Amino acid sequence: MEVIPVGFVEPEEEWEEETKLIHGGEYRDDQVGSIVTPIFVSVIYRYPEGNIYGYKYSRNSSPTIEALEKKVAYVEKGKDAVAFSSGMAAISSMLISMLRPGDKLVTTRDIYGTSYEMMTKLLGGFGIKVDEKAIGEKVLERIDKNTKVVFVETISNPLLIVPPIDEIAKVAEEVGAKLIVDNTFATPINFLPLEKGAYAVVHSASKYLAGHNDVLGGVMASNDTNYTIAVRNTRRLLGGIPDPQQVYFIIRGMKTLHVRVERQNKTALEIAKFLSEHPKVEKVHYPCLPDHPSYPIAKRLLKGCGGVVSFEVKGNGMDAIAVMKKVRVIQRTASLGGVESIITHPATMTHHTVPDDVRRELGIKDNLLRLSVGLESVQDLIEDLDRALKAI
Ligand code: PLP
Repeated sequence: MEVIPVGFVEPEEEWEEETKLIHGGEYRDDQVGSIVTPIFVSVIYRYPEGNIYGYKYSRNSSPTIEALEKKVAYVEKGKDAVAFSSGMAAISSMLISMLRPGDKLVTTRDIYGTSYEMMTKLLGGFGIKVDEKAIGEKVLERIDKNTKVVFVETISNPLLIVPPIDEIAKVAEEVGAKLIVDNTFATPINFLPLEKGAYAVVHSASKYLAGHNDVLGGVMASNDTNYTIAVRNTRRLLGGIPDPQQVYFIIRGMKTLHVRVERQNKTALEIAKFLSEHPKVEKVHYPCLPDHPSYPIAKRLLKGCGGVVSFEVKGNGMDAIAVMKKVRVIQRTASLGGVESIITHPATMTHHTVPDDVRRELGIKDNLLRLSVGLESVQDLIEDLDRALKAI
């Protein structure tokens, strides 16, 4: 491994993803000998003579942030990456960097609710035409020669629909549109959008990348450095750069991403199978189960289906809420991707602002629960769910 006397570690060609996650981009200093990237808190950097990296003011960039960006670029196989204070700061800055009044953005109705609201209300209010009628792969039918940007998620929430990203990328390219993929649910361990033709990839780093429910963050990557420069400039103008302390937690979390996600894939599949055979469960939604509508696409595109499993409890919404209230190991709240398992009732929690008719159209029933599998023992999680289900 080559360690530059003072600087960022550039991965060797043949390094596997796990090795890149741990060493890639780390800021190492031969004089002090630090192995772990320091938290550089300086807001100002010496100039006009400058420094070799050109830092000036930390709203533009600073070394801890750049270390994260390099790591993300290596892992997502992009030429460059840009870090943000949250997933929403990343998504909004990416779209603002590309779209102007009159441009058409095509997305789907089942994307993350706040992304949907930002696109339809905020961008729509600025005169951007947002086409959000499609669900899942129906997005293919909405792309036309007027489309400038297509935005999809690798795995939708909460029904875990996997759109055919490779086909969408092809259709987008044919009409000259740019495809952005929110890869938060899949993670780069299970899917690499840029390798399948996406123009850019984005994450809420608050979820799997950081992985411990203790930090917010967002990251994007692309192979078009003109675009990443434009996104970085938008970040400078809007001020969405993350704090170095926050970024340190994301860097630290990413070092264990591989082992966490592999284990979460395995535990989620085991739980999905257990739930499928449970007498108190009506239906299970997990794209690695053969009866899920996205199973063929998931098999073709994903290495694993991630740590989120949704299931419909036999009965009504009150029965689902009763199950959610009875689990003891699994925590009742709304996020996902961390080491703690989390259970959510979408109809009254994450999707309560979605009008009833739209929720029904999306297939989000009142008896649906969403489970984000953490790193507890699979046996303890199964027993927790079994006990809660048997009690209704
Ligand atoms: N994208 C997806 C798929 C999400 O689930 C979320 C948050 O839940 C976001 C984006 C927004 O990220 P953040 O909460 O970090 O702003």
